[in-house]
Order: sequence, then structure tokens, then C-alpha cells
Amino acid sequence: MSAFRYTFYAQEVIFGPGSITKLREASERFGGHRIMLCTTAHARSRGHVTAVEDALGERLVASYESVRPHVQDTQVAEALTLAAEYQVDALIGLGGGSTIGMAKAVSFELAEQQSEPTARAATASGWPLIPIVAIPTTYAGSEMTPVFGVTRHVDGVAHKVTVTDARVTPRLTIYDPLLTLDLPPLMTASTGINAVAHCIEALYSITRNPLSSAAALGGLRAMAQALPCCYVAGDDLEARTEMLTGAFLAGTALANVAMGLHHGICHVLGGTAGVAHGDANGVMLPHVMRFNLDATAPQLAQAAEAMGIPLAGQSAEAAATAATQQIADWIRDMRLPQRLRDVGVREADLPALAQLAFASRTVQNNPKAIGDVAQMEKLLRQAW
Ligand code: NAD
Repeated sequence: MSAFRYTFYAQEVIFGPGSITKLREASERFGGHRIMLCTTAHARSRGHVTAVEDALGERLVASYESVRPHVQDTQVAEALTLAAEYQVDALIGLGGGSTIGMAKAVSFELAEQQSEPTARAATASGWPLIPIVAIPTTYAGSEMTPVFGVTRHVDGVAHKVTVTDARVTPRLTIYDPLLTLDLPPLMTASTGINAVAHCIEALYSITRNPLSSAAALGGLRAMAQALPCCYVAGDDLEARTEMLTGAFLAGTALANVAMGLHHGICHVLGGTAGVAHGDANGVMLPHVMRFNLDATAPQLAQAAEAMGIPLAGQSAEAAATAATQQIADWIRDMRLPQRLRDVGVREADLPALAQLAFASRTVQNNPKAIGDVAQMEKLLRQAW
């Protein structure tokens, strides 16, 4: 692939143990004087919210601390009311991808309310009207991307709607490995596999470019070493730092290229079947890699090499199979769920889920075409 397009989002990234203390000086650079925090009760209980309060002082004027997974539309409305009431001029997402998604959704809605309807900004030339700061405590990657999803409830059916707009790309991302030391083993594993999935789908993306591929390979290199270590010894700061480096690279790869079958299915499983995002990733990734293997063997072979798998003399197909097996082994060894039935998906729901997934634009961007809904349902049945 020689022709490509790359969008730079002009973000500031501050990385390192203790970097949350840089929040105030960094917020001065983008002028946040009335900042609202979007987070969870868990982050409050672990002292992460206090760290933000200490850093920001009177600049923190409001806090929405009950963000539930998958960014629910009813919660966006609540947070939006709070943001309007306190006339906030910046938002922070502190926690997993859902808190960052909430900050993006509120920023987006406020911008829509306060400005003339504009065409969706395709490049970073349209700055966010309400800048977002992302402080991730998982490895999901939303902090680097111009994308968010909101789960909308219509006639009792939940459907996750994705928005891509350069203006919601976080203006500042603070990666502080100290905030990840208490991430439980299963969350470490599942959100870590989510980051691995970003790298895999970036490598074979139909819009991949030299920078996304380099970031994806660097991410896999870092995470192949660090993820198993973080799972067994969560308080190993060196491993946590390496893992967060991998997540940063994975998020960088994710931010700029079209994802494929895996991400499309995971969005449907999360938005409609309520499966935790990390769990959906763990169940689906090996199945999708096997499905895509014949069309993506050279890229998956690169992944195998980056993951440190000995490959002397092996064909691209054999190396791609080894990469898939290695990821399946991690998922098994870290005791993540391996079947859709184990994460609450009912067999009777598979046809409807297949329909939704087949209609997804992300699925249609897969490097190997999905011929019809029946093929999608077959894949889901294999994973069930
Ligand atoms: P999450 O944000 O949904 O959080 C899941 C749970 O983990 C929550 O209960 C939260 O309180 C808990 N948690 C978070 N950090 C913790 C910590 N340090 N210690 C203990 N518990 C902690 O999970 P996620 O997997 O990080 O994010 C998934 C969401 O992000 C999905 O909605 C997904 O679609 C979205 N996402 C978006 C992008 C993007 O580019 N926009 C990328 C990846 C994921």
C-alpha cells in the first residue's frame, strides 16, 4: 500500500508516573477555567478524583461521577444539564473508555447546541469548542481518537451509535501509570486485549499508513512483554508503564485508520447485547483473526514477529496462525471469557446481532469482504 492519508490531531500527550500533577499547568495552556469531570464512583473511591481536585483547585467546578459502561444516552442528557448549569469550558474524562466517551459526547452536544450547524470536521482544523482532557485508567484507547459511541434506547432496543469528528479528539491526554496500578487482573486482561485488537486491525486496515503500522507494531512489541506481567503483578510499575506505552501506541494506530470486522462486531455486542467491551474483544478477536487470515497473512505475520514469536523459515500463513494462537493463549491464560454464551449472549439473539453487525460500516471496511448476513451469523455461532 503506497498511497495514504494521515490526519494529525494536534494533541498534547503527557506520559509518566505522577504526570497527573501536571494537569493544572497543562490546563492553563488550553484555557480551561471552568472544568467538569466525568468519571466513576470507583475512581472517587481509589483517590483518583482527589488527585484531580488537588491539581485543579477552584478550576474544577462540576463533577459527574456515575458514568456507566457504553455511554448511555440518558446519562449524556444528565451530564449535559450539569455542564450547561455550570457553564463549563473544558471537560475531563477520567477512567475507562466510557468516561472519556462521556466527555466527548457532552463536548459534542454542547458544541452542537452553541454553534451553527456545521459540517462534521474531517480534519483537526475545527478545534473543539469545549476541549477534552483524557486521563485513562484502562488500556481501551479512546483518549487518542476522534470517535465516540453513545448507546441510544429506542422502543426498548439499545443501539450504539458512533460519531467520528476531529473536534472531540482529546486536546490533552495524561497517561499516568500510577493510576493503573489498581486495575484488577480481569480488567487489565480484557482492556489489554482491546488494545491488542486495535494493533491487529490497524495492521490490516484498508486505510493503513506507515505511521499507523509502525505504532501498531510498537504497541504489540510493548504489550507482548508487559500484558502478562501486569496480569500477574498489577503493582509492577515498570510493567504498567510499558503496558500503558503499548496502549498509547495502540490508540495512536486506532485513531487514524478504518477498523474492520472485529471492532464492528464488538460495538454491536456492547451496544445491543450489553457485553462489556473488553469481554467482547477477548471472545471475538481469535475468531476474527482466523476468519481474516487468508486475506491478511502478511500483516498478521508482522504482528507475530513484533510479538516475539520465533518464526525462522515459516510461511506468512504459518506466522499469522502463530500470532492468532498466541493471542488465544493469552486470553485463555488470563481467564477471560472465551464464548459469547459466557458473556450473556443468548443463542436466540444471534440472528438479530448478525443483522446489525452486517449493516455496520466498520464491518464493511473489513479487508476481507463479508458476503452476506449468513456468513456473519456463522462467525457469531462459532464464537457462541
Ligand atoms: P469502561 O470505561 O466501560 O469501564 C468498565 C469498568 O471498569 C467500569 O466499571 C470502571 O469503573 C472500571 N474501571 C476503569 N478503570 C479502572 C481502574 N483503574 N480500576 C478498577 N476499575 C476500573 O471500560 P473500557 O474497556 O475502558 O472502555 C470501554 C468503552 O470505551 C466502550 O464503550 C467502548 O466502545 C469505548 N471505546 C472507545 C474507543 C474510541 O476510540 N472511541 C476506543 C476503545 C473503547
